[in-house]
Formats: sequence, C-alpha cells, structure tokens
Amino acid sequence: MKPNPPKLITNLLSLVHCNVLFKIIYRNNSPLPKHPLKFDTSGKFKIVQFADIQDGPDTDPRTLELMSRILDKEKPNLVVLTGDNIDGKCKTTADVKKAITNIAGPMEARNIPWAIVFGNHDDEHLMMSKEEMMNFYMTFNYNISQIGFKTGSRIGNYNLLIQGASSQAPEFNIYLLDSGKYCTLGIYDYITCSEICWYKTIAKKLKKQYKKVIPAIMFFHIPLQEFHTAYKTGYVDGLRLEHEGASLINTGMFHAIVNTGDVKGIFVGHDHSNTYTAILDGVLLGYAGNTGYATYGNPKLQRGARVFEINESNPSVINTHMIFSGDVGLN
Ligand SMILES: [Zn+2]
Repeated sequence: MKPNPPKLITNLLSLVHCNVLFKIIYRNNSPLPKHPLKFDTSGKFKIVQFADIQDGPDTDPRTLELMSRILDKEKPNLVVLTGDNIDGKCKTTADVKKAITNIAGPMEARNIPWAIVFGNHDDEHLMMSKEEMMNFYMTFNYNISQIGFKTGSRIGNYNLLIQGASSQAPEFNIYLLDSGKYCTLGIYDYITCSEICWYKTIAKKLKKQYKKVIPAIMFFHIPLQEFHTAYKTGYVDGLRLEHEGASLINTGMFHAIVNTGDVKGIFVGHDHSNTYTAILDGVLLGYAGNTGYATYGNPKLQRGARVFEINESNPSVINTHMIFSGDVGLN
C-alpha cells in the first residue's frame, strides 16, 4: 500500500488553494500563441510527443536524426517535449543553451510549432533556472511554450487551444503541466494542489466561455499513481518494462480530471521503457517510451516517439500509436 495523506487533508488543502487562487487565475488571459493551432482542412490535428531526450550540449546525433526522420514521416501540426529534455551533462549556461538549441533544431528547420514541459532532470545542472530556460525556449520562432501559471518552483503550466478547420472556435485543448522533481530525497514529485486548482479553473473558464466542454489531452513528465492502477485493471496496449516512477503522494489530480470530464488522455515520459496505454475511468493513460539515445533504455525497446491523431469530427477520441526508430530506417 502506498502511504497517501488522508483524503480530508488533501481535500481541505485543495479547497483553500482553489479559493485563493481562483480569482487570480480566472482573470489572467493566456497570451495568443505565436502560431495559432488549427485542425487542417481534412479535419485532422497531429501531435508528436518526444519523451526524455535527456542529453547535454553534445546531443547524440542519433537522437536528432531520429527526431528529424519522425517529423518528416509524420508531418505533425505540433510537437510536445514531455520533460527531461536536457540534463546535468550541461556544465555552463552556454552548455544549457546549446543543448536546448540542438533539440529545437528538428522542429525549427521544418517550421513545426513545438511546446515543452519540464521533467526532474531539466534543471539539475543548476546553471539556469526553469524560468530562465523557459524564456530561452520561447525565443525560438516556432516554440509556443508559455511561462503560464507559476506556483512555488513549478513553471510552465499552460494550455493550448486548437481551432476548428473553418472556425476560430476551439474544438480541442492541450494542457501542459510541470510535475516537479523530488518531494523529498529519492521520492518523485506530484502535481500540487495549486496546479490542480489551476487546471479546474481553466476547464471551468473554457466551459463558461464556449458554452461546451472542450475535449482535451494533458501532458506532463512524472506519471500519476493511477497509471499503475490502469495497467492492472484497464485495457493495455504496448509494453511495461519498468515500474511506474510515480510519486508516493497522491494529491488527487486524476480524481479532479475524472470529475471535470474534459481530459480524454494523459501522457507522460519519465519511465523510458514503458510504451503502454491503458484506460481507467474512461481516460486513456499512456507513455511515449523515449527518444534520447544518450540515456537509459531497455535493449528490448527501440527509441521512438508517440503519435496522436485527433479528428475534429470526434475530438473526444484520442487515436495514438508509437513510432520506433526501425519504422524510419534507424537502429
Ligand atoms: Zn524523469
């Protein structure tokens, strides 16, 4: 059994946070994205998720080649990097900027909008803060990340709306969150109560503004405990070659998602050797394996990425599959 804080305490904390934060979040409008995201003329919107590139200033060229080939094959409308994008191999500020510039290359060269969240390794170099790095990411022409909602050390909680092919009204939504690092020595972090409140506030605001529930997908780095529950009880596709590295603390994010009803899929990185998707309470939970050659991976599993295809005619259904290095002629 995993030791969770008593439900009453987490509920109370959530309530206090929400009441305080609701007014601030509700008033803050997200900036307009540099590149508005739209379903294409055939009503499709494709996302590629690259997980755990986790490299330094001398990015493994195999990683960049893999990213490039996947983008050429899939031609996505958006790329999401779900954290541990770089790591402690960066020893100077220049190293950090070089590492980020390297991984920006495949998207920037192809004019593909891309967005990031942070993982537990992104600032372990101590050379730049996450806010400084986010500001650097945002200088790239096609990067549409946002500082978004900041709380404590968390930064880059934001959402991106996808407009209909023939309208400016949003038909799909993408939440991106910072799932933190370690809550105490050796124990992975959790989505904070403030972030849960932020999510619920955005969902409520969108529902009020557009008079409907906008189906959404959510990306962050560290899996929720419910991934393991889903694996044990739900329909499973793909591989589980390592234990879910979730936090020991459950703050109720999954519960909030199920109650809110807009998020149809939650996708993470962190556990490089997992590629499975599983369903729990109608929500698809899944991994994207890993993209980086310079970090650990199970020899049974090729490097790769996850592809999502959302149809405007039925945006509540998350169509997704893995693409591996072998699919694009690489080892
Ligand atoms: Zn990680």
